[in-house]
Amino acid sequence: MIPFNKPHLTGKETHYIYDAVNSGQLSGNGKYTRMCQEWMEHKFGFGKCLLTTSCTDALEMAAILLNIKEGDEVIMPSYTFVSTANAFVLRGAKIVFADSKPNHPGMDESKIEDLITSKTKAIVPVHYAGVACDMDLIMEVAQKHKLFVVEDAAQAIDSYFINKRGEKKALGTIGHLAAFSFHETKNIISGEGGMLAINDAQFYDRAEIIWEKGTNRSAFFKGEVDKYGWVDVGSSFLPSEMVAAFLFAQLESLEGIQARRTQIWYTYQNKLAHWCRSNNIKLPRVPEYATNNAHMFYLVCESKKQRSQLIQYLKDHDVLSVFHYLSLHKSEFYQNKHDGRALMECDRYADTLVRLPLYFDLLEEEQNLIVKAINSFSFE
Ligand SMILES: *Cc1c(COP(=O)(O)O)cnc(C)c1O
Repeated sequence: MIPFNKPHLTGKETHYIYDAVNSGQLSGNGKYTRMCQEWMEHKFGFGKCLLTTSCTDALEMAAILLNIKEGDEVIMPSYTFVSTANAFVLRGAKIVFADSKPNHPGMDESKIEDLITSKTKAIVPVHYAGVACDMDLIMEVAQKHKLFVVEDAAQAIDSYFINKRGEKKALGTIGHLAAFSFHETKNIISGEGGMLAINDAQFYDRAEIIWEKGTNRSAFFKGEVDKYGWVDVGSSFLPSEMVAAFLFAQLESLEGIQARRTQIWYTYQNKLAHWCRSNNIKLPRVPEYATNNAHMFYLVCESKKQRSQLIQYLKDHDVLSVFHYLSLHKSEFYQNKHDGRALMECDRYADTLVRLPLYFDLLEEEQNLIVKAINSFSFE
């Protein structure tokens, strides 16, 4: 069976973990944590980076930093992972879900302004499949209504938005805050892991405090204060040095990882184009203003029945393909709290989107087998 995902190892991970273990500092915020954070800031131009134990944690830090409280409203897509919403629900926020676009599973930016009320505090765009939301539109609306923007960039490492001035901006550098994931299903991994990118300097100091259990321990170690204590709310959001050491090995191999993933992505696109056209199946769309970080390759079927047929057929041919999110506004937990608006496009992607295996170690002959299987399939 060709799996849907296989975590890729560069070979350097255990070497750096060995070094971290022998260096004597095992807890967080040590040498490897700082190396990863500086690497990220330098490579992509984030204001400041803090490694976290997951993207979920980075989103929770964002909600604390924005002082989200009972009754605040936060706008985000319904077609996303539960953590995008949970982080804000934990602070008492009401989630106002936006629909997806007709031609992309990402949130429909043109509908955001209609959802803003006097209680709205933040917009949380999710760069689905690592493909940028229209950040010009989102930042414009946010500025006009004095809202914060938190990019859920979990899937969006090494992906860019080309703004209306023609500047190429890394995703995660545009919103006030951004959250990344290094879960083993993402392009760059550390098992579980994440990062908060902070672009608005007003949050730099407080982010470090929240990160270190609500203490000013970071400032203490930098010699900025002469004792450390409890100064704010916070939690234990930082990963250990072993996790950071693993991540550093992956970052060093970013270019090679991205090159191989991109090759697989375009092979799918080229070799499936004809079959998709004949069967009225949609290929992933990358708008003019976005780059492609080859995080995910998906197909959008015409119906749920078609999708089930395709998934079953591939399974019969030893290929594991999977569907993705269920609409959050219809989830067991949130359906009674949702305001009742129908979100048709989101529901459509929940029913019809299927993801194909895409990972560094997918062999050429395995991909050929997948492509060949699909090309010889016809729907009932
Ligand atoms: C993977 C993912 C998350 C969660 O990341 P973790 O690191 O597993 O917490 C959140 N949002 C999106 C859009 C994701 O794809």
